Amino acid sequence: MSALEERSIGQLADLILNVRWQDLLEVWGVIRKKMDTDGPDAVKSGFQSARQRFLEDPLENHLEVRWGMSLCMHCNDDNIEKNGISYVQPNGDGLEFNQCLNCRIGILYNLVSANAKLDTYTIGLGKPEQFNGMSFFWNAIVPDSLGKFQPSYEVISIGQWVGTVSFDASYTPRFLAFGKMTASTERDAEEPWTSDLSDEMKTAVDSFIEVARPQIEVALALR
Ligand SMILES: [Zn+2]
Repeated sequence: MSALEERSIGQLADLILNVRWQDLLEVWGVIRKKMDTDGPDAVKSGFQSARQRFLEDPLENHLEVRWGMSLCMHCNDDNIEKNGISYVQPNGDGLEFNQCLNCRIGILYNLVSANAKLDTYTIGLGKPEQFNGMSFFWNAIVPDSLGKFQPSYEVISIGQWVGTVSFDASYTPRFLAFGKMTASTERDAEEPWTSDLSDEMKTAVDSFIEVARPQIEVALALR
């Protein structure tokens, strides 16, 4: 058995949330195998407890901050990139994608007059730009109202947030384009989502499914 296989599902979920493994898809692959033997409920409860630990530490001090990410909670470095702001209000407030380029994690912060509140915690999968030149981030912690879209993935292309992909149980993708995330749109609205993907996005999604299928299978069981 490898070092990973000896660990419990909860410990493996801790590794993922805290990005303490070089290739996170390898960790997901081990969890996927454990799901066959231990069952989806064991995977679900393993992630639930890991999420709870993660929310208490290290995320607790990053739930509400000034302006957004300045130092990363994991590496404590300021190698931060802002990838775009959606749902932009006339005064410039909105939902901002903050990324640590070292750890490849992101936090979507709701900015309201410099006060930033956590909306979503998201984790990069695979290598940067691995999927038709795009990067996929799994949304590990989302607002309750977005439960109906899980599992979902934020997509970054050439440093810019281009939208969100969601899968149903048959791996059929839906896409919410960054440009559709406007001030007049509710965050959990169904209407701006489309199953009509551009060729470029469809190629990216197909390549992601091919590489990350075990991750998607487990993420589907977490709903
Ligand atoms: Zn970091």
